[in-house]
Amino acid sequence: MNDFVKKRLFHGFITMHILHHAKDQPIYGSWMVSELAHHGYQLSYGTLYPILHGLEKEGLLISSASTVEGKVRKYYALTPLGEEALSELRIYLKELSDEVS
Ligand SMILES: [Zn+2]
Repeated sequence: MNDFVKKRLFHGFITMHILHHAKDQPIYGSWMVSELAHHGYQLSYGTLYPILHGLEKEGLLISSASTVEGKVRKYYALTPLGEEALSELRIYLKELSDEVS
């Protein structure tokens, strides 16, 4: 696939995955990287963290720190605003998927 196209689309796909999984339970960086690896995305922290931080800044995610095995881990949970965005995205996604597939 063309790199330019891939980069632009994957940002969106990754954003959707993050919102979707954060709805079930708070997620954290390394969990998200391995979850996305199952879906075939090779994601670096350098790509993931700016997306997480951006989503938090926009009020779609909220983070909280908790200590796991002596290490501070930052968890991200979906906010009500994030839920709204996710439901809206689902409509666009379904519409797009119906058209292109
Ligand atoms: Zn996923």
